[in-house]
Amino acid sequence: MNPQSAIPIPQSLFSPAPRFIWPDGKRCAVMLCFDVDGETTALSEDPALARRLTTMSQCEYGPRVGVPRLLGLLEHLGVPATFFIPSFIAEHHSAMTRAVATAGHEIGAHGHLHEKLAHLSPDQEEAVLAKSLHILEGIAGARPAGHRAPWFEINPGTPDLLKAHGLLYSASLMGDDVPFLHANGLVEIPGQWMLEDWEQFAFNAEPAWGFVPENCEKVYDLWMREYEAMRDFGCCFTLTLHPWLSGRPSRVRLLERIVRDIQADGSAWFATGSEIARYVLAHPAARRETDLDAPI
Ligand SMILES: [Zn+2]
Repeated sequence: MNPQSAIPIPQSLFSPAPRFIWPDGKRCAVMLCFDVDGETTALSEDPALARRLTTMSQCEYGPRVGVPRLLGLLEHLGVPATFFIPSFIAEHHSAMTRAVATAGHEIGAHGHLHEKLAHLSPDQEEAVLAKSLHILEGIAGARPAGHRAPWFEINPGTPDLLKAHGLLYSASLMGDDVPFLHANGLVEIPGQWMLEDWEQFAFNAEPAWGFVPENCEKVYDLWMREYEAMRDFGCCFTLTLHPWLSGRPSRVRLLERIVRDIQADGSAWFATGSEIARYVLAHPAARRETDLDAPI
């Protein structure tokens, strides 16, 4: 163990040049994302689920109980986060949405009713985006700068649509582990399914969602091993959590432990999506390209 750190020193002897030069000598960016899907988790799948009160109540747990608890933890730890909120949820949980903004966290767009973009025509996709930006700005007091597509899936025209509506960044693709620029100058902050809580914790009997909920010890190990390696490779650790899952008590403790151990490590820059995007745009030489071929 490194006496300065709660994290064991990796035994790997393989340490390539960092993929990205982060500010202030930090070796890794950490973007904590909360996708506050709430009731749209069910309603976007089937509006008839509105009559399933238990399923709906599990979804409601996120904005009603999970978010206030997580806001308390973030304040206690002194770290910023980015909340992607479907505008239907912002409308129906406006006090929750304003509390996120008042606490100084970033609010990004996440559809209106958590629509799957692949199922929308270009006109429908633009209408949903415009509506969601308008509603979020009206409630939170600031126009969103970032967009996370529901289910992470975007269409070929989405980057130009986001740019045309004044957004600074997208946080949906998975083809890299450091930010990159789309051809139109939109910043992409990539994520990955391994750093997502749905695969670890989601479960509903009917409709059948998720799997057997995992033990937090296993998830700590999964995520911290990835953090340690991403730190050594100079990556962006984009962790995506849903308050209806990660607002449950033992998982709030899990997040506290992860953030505390990353803070103790001293290598990470905790930043919102906007902060990362602005840094990327201001430091075009920060990214070390490794592509051997042009994309298809
Ligand atoms: Zn979502």
